[in-house]
Amino acid sequence: MNNFLISKYKDVEPYVPGEQPRDKKYIKFNTNESPYPPSEAVLRAVKESARSLQLYPDPACRDLKAALAGSLGLEPENILPTNGSDEVLSLSFMAYAHDEKPAYYADVTYGFYDVLSGLFNVKANHFSLCDDFTIDIEQYCELDSGLIVIANPNAPTGIAIGVDEIEKICKESPNCVVLIDEAYVEFGAESCVGLVAKYPNLIVSRTYSKSMSLAGARLGYAIANNDRITELETLKYTLNPYSVNRTALAAGVSTIEDIEYYRNNCKLVADTRDKTAEKLRSLGFELTDSKTNFVFCRHPGVEASELSDKLRQAGILVRHFTGERTNDWLRISIGTPEDMSALTDTLEKILNGG
Ligand SMILES: *Cc1c(COP(=O)(O)O)cnc(C)c1O
Repeated sequence: MNNFLISKYKDVEPYVPGEQPRDKKYIKFNTNESPYPPSEAVLRAVKESARSLQLYPDPACRDLKAALAGSLGLEPENILPTNGSDEVLSLSFMAYAHDEKPAYYADVTYGFYDVLSGLFNVKANHFSLCDDFTIDIEQYCELDSGLIVIANPNAPTGIAIGVDEIEKICKESPNCVVLIDEAYVEFGAESCVGLVAKYPNLIVSRTYSKSMSLAGARLGYAIANNDRITELETLKYTLNPYSVNRTALAAGVSTIEDIEYYRNNCKLVADTRDKTAEKLRSLGFELTDSKTNFVFCRHPGVEASELSDKLRQAGILVRHFTGERTNDWLRISIGTPEDMSALTDTLEKILNGG
């Protein structure tokens, strides 16, 4: 094969998304999507936006910035809508890390951070989580410069830290940008958005993919001090000024107007999670304390890879991350109560040798 790829990209390791198979219909517990569809109002807004698809979207995303700012009690200048929150992450790595400005993140966390370090040639410092997968936040204090990235709650462990701990990191590493990835915050953790006004080194990343039933629309946003937003936005305009499309913008605004529907769905998911966790414990599983729309669990009697294979044969997909610290564990997204019963019934059969 001819290799035209320039050398600096020769060794990049792409992100491996959870699979979206087409061979048959599976119950999908492998990508943390919402089990609930967008609201009727959002569907109407999407349809309406399609009437103008011959026109470019507003690259400044003014309507969505205003709507988000209103809902968060901030100014539009504090918000940058993006193509999924993955774009907040890539713009932040691009803006704030390189070989002399390292990135700091946990050894067990969202895999995309390592992908971005590879792409942007960033020196990555992996801080070990404790044995129980909790974060030792002292590791993130008194760092000199660079980019601190913490998923809160963390993925795939589901464990959250408190706002006071995030504040301590912002305060004690004032020359680092502190990026808090709140992809799952709506399912039961505490948001640190309230700290944005006080700490110019804090960037909060949010997504519509999990809690707002819009994974397919690709919409996320950054929340930060106006200077950080300007830096990120400048890079956005250099890379892809129209990264957020017209339909996503319309869906994003309509979602905020219909927020009660989504709050209720998040509550349903959190209740289903807690009931599923209880059931899994009764089947002998060990679980972390998840504040997200997934559980992270292992069984002392059966290997995770075997459980994952057998579930797949039964038409249920879960996520198994190979790797030293995660190899025993499964990450299982929370679906409807009916889907979760199908999961726990199937696991019960597998564990009974069926
Ligand atoms: C899903 C996820 C994201 C990215 O979500 P988008 O679909 O790009 O908005 C970011 N961070 C974590 C921890 C995630 O799990």
